[in-house]
Amino acid sequence: MEYKKNDILTVTIEDIGNDGEGIGKVDGYTLFVKDAVIGDTVRCKIMKAKKNYAYGKLEEILIPSDIRVTPLCKFHRQCGGCQIQAMDYEAQLGFKQRKVKNNLMRIGGFSAEFLEKVMEPIVGMENPYHYRNKAQFPVGTDKEGKLITGFYAGRTHDIIANTDCALGVPENKEILESILYYMEKYHVPAYDEKTGTGLVRHVLIRKGFASGEIMVCLVVNYEGKRGKDQIGKWKGLKEELIEALAKIPGMTSISVNINTARTNVIMGDEVYTLWGKDKICDTIHVRNGEDFSLTDRGIVFRISPLSFYQVNPVQTEKLYSLALEYAGLTGEETVWDLYCGIGTISLFLAGAAKKVYGVEVIPQAIQDARENAEYNGIENAEFYVGKAEEVLPDLYEREGIRADVIVVDPPRKGCDGECLNTMLKMRPKRIVYVSCDSATLARDLKVLCDGGYELRRVRAVDQFGGSVHVEVACCLQREDKANP
Ligand code: SAH
Repeated sequence: MEYKKNDILTVTIEDIGNDGEGIGKVDGYTLFVKDAVIGDTVRCKIMKAKKNYAYGKLEEILIPSDIRVTPLCKFHRQCGGCQIQAMDYEAQLGFKQRKVKNNLMRIGGFSAEFLEKVMEPIVGMENPYHYRNKAQFPVGTDKEGKLITGFYAGRTHDIIANTDCALGVPENKEILESILYYMEKYHVPAYDEKTGTGLVRHVLIRKGFASGEIMVCLVVNYEGKRGKDQIGKWKGLKEELIEALAKIPGMTSISVNINTARTNVIMGDEVYTLWGKDKICDTIHVRNGEDFSLTDRGIVFRISPLSFYQVNPVQTEKLYSLALEYAGLTGEETVWDLYCGIGTISLFLAGAAKKVYGVEVIPQAIQDARENAEYNGIENAEFYVGKAEEVLPDLYEREGIRADVIVVDPPRKGCDGECLNTMLKMRPKRIVYVSCDSATLARDLKVLCDGGYELRRVRAVDQFGGSVHVEVACCLQREDKANP
């Protein structure tokens, strides 16, 4: 039986796709239904029909699944951020564990029995809400011309008005509402993407969970004279808004970022501090296996509006503790940390190794990494700017660099082939792979295992409750008789 657009079908959801969509079958015909949860029986309307499958829109839940819960956020279906918030958190963790395992089997070629031995249970969050320390809210107008801020609806640039995202910090609401209030009061227009006119584009809010320090940065389409004193003098907005925001407990830094480019890129390059400090601080505590000495000290990170910083600091501590444990350092090792960002992992490795070298493509991040090293009195970490797949082979060919341990934490697309090849030539004792995409992880693990490494430990850590994303840490050991 073939179905067509607008047909209404009743289906029981039996599986979940990698993007969180429910999957069910009617007479052997497969239906993908966004927002439907495994175990639900739903009525759906076909939006797009193909020969053997179709995409359906959830119209009504006829029998709710046992694992269906009422999400904290009433916008979770429209918003592109959370795909599986309607699923019980334990079930979300189960889904993520299976997703990692399936990718390692399907793409990595590892057997189920082998993975049973090396995979440890996923590390979940104590509270899967309000965990994000950073959010960027687009500012715009609704159909009636009223100023709004919130989130883009999935795959669009339509803003859903919501100042109280369930993943963010409670302070977001007051900050955003003050900004909208004073923008209304002084008739300050939101930026309009279609025409390139208007002023306020985005609001960036960040909070140091350990320090309690808050940063607000208004991203503006401002063509006027630059400099701290000129910026933000538009019609009284500046003084009153700053006064209101500065009263919020924890407020540490208020700035503007200038972005006049007609692109989707949120931040421009210029930042001017209007009030308070240029940077906020936060401390991360990581332990090394059973060694808690690093935890006592913690490492302080100084974060500017343009710095990259992990968004879920609580789970980051768990993920990096795992990475450090997998690195198995004794204090004698030379370690390379590839894709090091602002040096978060590097600086912890430095506390347990002889020497750490970090490599990262963004110059500003490396500048932050060097500053963070200095600020924390860490002298055995050195950083290189450049692509891992260029810097590593180049230094290997020219200077014969070596490594006892290599740590990689690449973006979603994984490691470049040239980078993996050089790692294999360098023959480190261990490789620690931290990944935010288990499909590219599986592909790269296959290369490393074909090249003489054995996968010893794998553990997923949930950094993003409510979403389908999951981080994974892996430990690989060189297969070597002298090194059992
Ligand atoms: N480990 C860091 C950041 C990991 S995110 C932390 O925990 O903070 C991945 C990083 O890889 C980003 O900072 C990104 O800028 C960088 N990157 C992307 N492609 C790269 C490449 N080809 N070579 C080196 N770094 C790269």
